[in-house]
Amino acid sequence: MQYDLCIIGAGPGGYRAAEYAAQQGLQVVIIEKDEVGGTCLNRGCIPTKTYVHSATFAEALERQQQVVQQLRAGVEGILSAPGITLVRDTASFLDSHTVALAGGDTISAKHIIIATGSSAKMPPIVGIDTDPRVMTATELLRLTTLPKRLCIIGAGVIGMEFASVFQRFGSEVTVIEFMKECLPMLDTDCAKRLRKVMEKRGIVFMMKTSVQNLADIDADAILIATGRKPHTEGLNLEAAGILTDSRGFIVVDDNYRLSLTEGQTPCEVYAIGDVNGRQLLAHAAEMQAVHAVNHILGKTDGIRFDIMPAAIFTQPEAACVGPSEDQLKAMEQTYQCRKAFWRANGKALAMDEGEGLLKLFSDAEDRIIGCHAFGAHAADIIQEVSVLMCRDTTVPQLRDMVHIHPTLSEILLTCAHSCSHVATCHRTS
Ligand code: FAD
Repeated sequence: MQYDLCIIGAGPGGYRAAEYAAQQGLQVVIIEKDEVGGTCLNRGCIPTKTYVHSATFAEALERQQQVVQQLRAGVEGILSAPGITLVRDTASFLDSHTVALAGGDTISAKHIIIATGSSAKMPPIVGIDTDPRVMTATELLRLTTLPKRLCIIGAGVIGMEFASVFQRFGSEVTVIEFMKECLPMLDTDCAKRLRKVMEKRGIVFMMKTSVQNLADIDADAILIATGRKPHTEGLNLEAAGILTDSRGFIVVDDNYRLSLTEGQTPCEVYAIGDVNGRQLLAHAAEMQAVHAVNHILGKTDGIRFDIMPAAIFTQPEAACVGPSEDQLKAMEQTYQCRKAFWRANGKALAMDEGEGLLKLFSDAEDRIIGCHAFGAHAADIIQEVSVLMCRDTTVPQLRDMVHIHPTLSEILLTCAHSCSHVATCHRTS
């Protein structure tokens, strides 16, 4: 059968592309070599958040399976809709128009979307290939006994989330990080304060520390959380003339379409989600899917990929949208900075969640350009700011918007009112 669209990988990027394309009337085939749902559902966002919301390790193990199975059934339902054919096999390119299946068949389609995701990147540390204590996030989520002493290498999003949750389950947690501060995408003020809160709870942080040899680490389990690499092994990208960058991520343009090497027939191949390395987030993969399908259909949309909120599900949470103050300074942009604290919010104190800081950034015209925060339910507040940014809202306009009392969202309103007594930072280029 000739398909309009062939999608490789059924994670959030792939299954969203399939669902949306079929709704738009395209005949779609989607190829998945493993369980549908990808990293996010099977070994990423969903299992980790089930851990965050479970009281004990035993409860987390039980709930993880239930929640994942329920959601996986939902994705299988999406992929059984009219217009979608799900093929359970491993795909590789024969050329830029044709995909071969490990089972022997070939599939050709007018358009191909690569949505094969990413996997853990292992740093060059002595012992990393042989030490039985070494594990990735996937393996840590499969552990059936709680490690007494857990060492985490890397204080990025994955490292910090696992540190928070395993400390709460009762492990002695040490985080080793090469950089000066954790969570490089987060405003340094917020990152530092969050780290201090986690330190007070008993997590040991060794910052500015480089691990040379795993034999030096005294732990029962070692989680490697030093970044992700694109999942392209076996795809035979060379056969299709597909270009990758120095880290191996597939090079795409702003419509997520590929650049092909010279000599290849121009074709309509796209790469969405983690595999293009742009924004390694499930919701980014889904929005890129919609945009790529719109591009195939010749439709325009108004998706603002420059406004990409992100959250870190530690306890308390952290979240951000737009540049941090460190980045604004580096860009030498004129900006204003306002701050508000969880300890001044009635709902936060009633919840016994007094730790938290929110920083709201606006430009010279007082238009909101970013917000970074840590504190209970910070992600929900950042989501509100993202919506305001999509509508080019100014801080004076935010001040006029009614917020329910008592809620944590009032922290944002307090922040909008705080210009007169909070430092306003200006830097003119
Ligand atoms: P994936 O979800 O990785 O899916 C790719 C799919 O392609 C896989 O199912 C794979 O089996 C399949 N595939 C690969 N190669 C082939 C082939 N040759 N043939 C057929 N099939 C193939 N993001 C968030 O937004 N929020 C979070 O809270 C969050 N938490 C995370 C926690 C952890 C521990 C991890 C590891 C990640 C987390 N992420 C989170 C990131 C999120 O999981 C990814 O950004 C998202 O899954 C990317 O979606 P994707 O569709 O690009 O790829």
